[in-house]
Order: sequence, then C-alpha cells, then structure tokens
Amino acid sequence: MSTTVLARKYRPRNFSALVGQTHVVQALVNALTQKRLHHAWLFTGTRGVGKTTVSRILAKSLNCTGPDGKGDITAEPCGVCEACRSIDAGRFLDYVELDAASNRGVDEITQLLDQAVYKPVIGRFKVYMIDEVHMLTPTAFNAMLKTLEEPPEYLKFVLATTDPQKVPATVLSRCLQFNLRPMAPPTIVEHLGTVLREEGLAADASALKLIARAARGSMRDALSITDQAIAYGSGAVEEEPVRRMLGAVDRGHAVRLVEALAAHDGKALIGAVDGLRELGLSAAGTLEELAALLQEMAVLQAVPGADDSDDPDAAVAARLATLLPADETQLLYSIVLHGREELPLAPDEYSGLVMILLRMLAFAPTETEPRSVPRPGPARAEAPVRAETLAAASPKAAVRPARDEGTNSVSSPAAVASAAPTLTPPAPTSPDRTEAWPRDPAAAGRWVDLVRRLIEAGSIAAMVRELAMQAEGIAVVEAAGETLWRLRVERENLRTPALREKLQVAVAETLRLPVRLELEAGAAVDTPAERAAEARRQRQARAEQEINDDPLVKALLAQYKTARIVPGSVKPL
Ligand SMILES: [Zn+2]
Repeated sequence: MSTTVLARKYRPRNFSALVGQTHVVQALVNALTQKRLHHAWLFTGTRGVGKTTVSRILAKSLNCTGPDGKGDITAEPCGVCEACRSIDAGRFLDYVELDAASNRGVDEITQLLDQAVYKPVIGRFKVYMIDEVHMLTPTAFNAMLKTLEEPPEYLKFVLATTDPQKVPATVLSRCLQFNLRPMAPPTIVEHLGTVLREEGLAADASALKLIARAARGSMRDALSITDQAIAYGSGAVEEEPVRRMLGAVDRGHAVRLVEALAAHDGKALIGAVDGLRELGLSAAGTLEELAALLQEMAVLQAVPGADDSDDPDAAVAARLATLLPADETQLLYSIVLHGREELPLAPDEYSGLVMILLRMLAFAPTETEPRSVPRPGPARAEAPVRAETLAAASPKAAVRPARDEGTNSVSSPAAVASAAPTLTPPAPTSPDRTEAWPRDPAAAGRWVDLVRRLIEAGSIAAMVRELAMQAEGIAVVEAAGETLWRLRVERENLRTPALREKLQVAVAETLRLPVRLELEAGAAVDTPAERAAEARRQRQARAEQEINDDPLVKALLAQYKTARIVPGSVKPL
C-alpha cells in the first residue's frame, strides 16, 4: 500500500475544500471574483501546509472554461473542463511547476523564462509555479526579475517558499505575499475524522490526536501517517498501535515526571528515567509528551475549565495544573523545548534526559515551606487550599524579583515593601507565585527602554532591529544568574531561531550580562514600534492643531473662502 494514498486522494481540488487557511482563501476568492489579479503571488509557510495545492487551484481558477466551455475566470473551478482535469492530472501545457530545490541552475529558469514570450498554448493564462524559490541562484533570480518587472499580461507567477527571508527584497516587492499557517491540531483531527468516515474506517479520537501532534501542522504528513496507521493497525486507527508506530511515550510517564517536579522529588525523577530506559522508551518522545502536557497545563492555568470534556487526558492535565504555579509551568516548558535541541549532543539520550530534568528541578523556585503533594480528590478544591498555605507560610510568595539590568538592586515597589519589615531581600530566583507570566506592563516598558539603548548603541540593524521593534516584553525573570526575557512577536517571519540568537547576543553584549530571549507567538500590542508610531501620531496631531490655531492661517482661511489646508500636507518639525 502506498503511503501517500490518502494525501493524494483527499488533496483539495477547490478553495472550499481547503482546510485551515481561511484568510488566504478569502483573499484569493475575492481577487478572482472581482478579477483584480496580481501577476505574482508568493506563498510562504512550512512544508505540507498546502502551497502547491493552492497554486494548482489558482491555475484552475484562471484557466477554467466551465462545464459548457463558456466559463470565465472563476473562484470555483468546475473540475470537469479540459483545463481543470489536465491541471489536476499534471498535464496542462500552460501550467509549469518547477522545484528550485532540485533545479537550482540558471539554465532551467532561463529556459522557462524564454518560453514566457510565447502566448499560452490552450489556456487563458500561463502559470509558472516555482517551489522553494529561495533556493534559486542570484543569477537565476536576476533572470526572473526581468520578467517579473514587465510580465506579459497572460503570464502569472506563483512562488512558494519555506524560507521567505532568503528571497531577495527586489522579488518580494513584486509579489503579493500570503502566509499559509501550520494547521492547528484540532483542525487536523477534524479533517482526519471526516476522511476516515468517508473511507468507512474506525478511528479512536485519541489516536487521531497523536497523529495530529506528530504531523506538526502539516496536513499532508497527517494523511501519510494515517495511511501508515491504517496499514499498521490492519484497517483501524487505534491509540495503542499508533502510539507504538510513532514511538510516542505513554502520557502516564510524563504525568509522573510532572508530579515528581511539583513535589521537588529528585529521587522519583531519576527513578522515572530509569523506568523509561528499562522500557526502551525514547527520551525525545518523553520530552515531546512532557512539552504537550505542560502546554495543556498552561492553558488550563490561564483559562480554567478550557478542557476538552471528551478527552480523558484533560482531567489529568487539570489536576496537574493546580500543582504548579503558571510561571513555573512556563519556565519548565521552555526548558523542555530547549532541552530537545541539545538532546542529540548528550553522550547518550537518557543522560541527556536526566540533565534536562535536573535543570527543571534546579530552576524551580527554592522554598522553605513543604510543597503540597498531589492528593487524590477533586482538583478544584485543592487549589485554593494550596494558595492559602503558601500565603501563610511565606509572605514573600507574591514578590516578583524585578531587577534593573546591570545592577543588583531590587526595583519592584512590591518587593521593597514586603522586604522592608524583615529587611531580608526576597530570594532572587523566586518568581511570582500567584500571578501567571502573561503581560507584565513593566516588562513591556523595560523592553522599550532596552531596545532604545540597543538602537542608540548601533548594535542592531535590519531584521534583528525589526524583531526587537516588533516584540512585546511579556515578562522578565532573573533565574540562575541569567535574565530571561519572554517576548511576544506576531509576525511569523521574525520568530526565527537565527534572529532570536542575534538579538540575544546584542542584548547580552549591551548589558554585559547573560541573557536568554524566548519568543512566543501572539498579538504583540505594546511594542517599541507601536510606541514610536503613537509618538509620531501625537506629534502629527500637535502640528495640525498648531496650524489650525495659527492666527495667520485663520485669517487666510477667513479671507479666501476657497482656501483650505491640504490634507496630509502638515508635517511636524
Ligand atoms: Zn474547469
């Protein structure tokens, strides 16, 4: 059985069948319906999110002649005319797909561009789809640029890339850019459910969840894995075989690790790793499951009751969510993610896993009061009791250690106030235990100041500067001699490891302190860029007000009835 049966069979053939990319579909459908057609589109996104699929649907939309042969450009290609059927079958003469990853040479692209001077053979438009366009050589880019600058009206380019940063700005500026998003696991689960129902195959919801997680946002991968699971499970998609097939670690192991961390029980932690080693379960799989569990806990801590009621795992995650404070859950999650990267560097994967778990233990706040140990019973009742116990046992519990970069002084008013009676400073590694990370307004302000320093020092430029400007400081924590900044960045193309690394180096060099930056996705509101824009708006409003209030201007307007202030002509000094 081929492993791409489902992926090919269920490849969307029109926009309405395209799952999880509503924003892109809507824009393309509008453009096609109103016949406002750009001559070059650039689709960005990770592998398997549908770039080639969108390109083929677009080629059909442009060339479809309808079932009666009289159709025009349409957002709903008929699927039955010669053009539609040939494009689906990959034999339409005027639709060319070129994979730049395997055709890097200038020859193929120049050959293709040489053909561009000829009108379409049978279609309305020639459509050139160049996949992984960032792989083209500079010479090939230049050759393409000439055609992109003055394209014949019958020629459309569809460019696709997993790495838009490597596409020259001269090319980017001539394309209409769309970002195809990685598919959310629930979207994948729902689609797999539909596909399997149509195939008349039984499936466990939990098995589909495992597949959706393993597919990492790629529907194509999800369908391929499902194909394998059907073969592996002889016709049914069930949790246990899927777990074995994917090398996924049973959630029970991750649960025990979180319990040991919450109880600060190093012995139990090491014992759990020994158990994993004996069972031959993978360390990478363990970290993956641990990350998934911590992520669910974090969601439940931020939004209690956000669990999926038909999911038995959710009840467990809800119980664990009450054992750890939200900020610690965040910190443990980031240690797991970083740990995964360094796992291949460890002498062997279990010793790597032990080190990562011990780091999680070390990063947990130091406390004198005993931790509440997980007890059976209703989870909801456990949380308030624990909060009260903590508050009574440690008045320092609510202190967030907010230090200025470069000094050791504690600057948070709350910290000063609560530290004053005993004059005992709060433990510097103890983050706020009653509040979650989300949005510390002080962190946003500190980040704005820090970025101003970086720019004044000339230590960031180009895309690194853009990342710094577009990031919102969500939280800042001092832990184990290092300043940990959590930044929220909306634009996906800025959230890359390379840019993060460069910015981290620049910050560390400017502050002369060890610094770690973590980027999270989400709507960034209070960013340096937004503050700069607001300052500009205020200067503009003041300038306009001054002009309106100017006695000479008022006199001129009164004297000449047709005189007016040209909108947009007022510029602040
Ligand atoms: Zn058609």
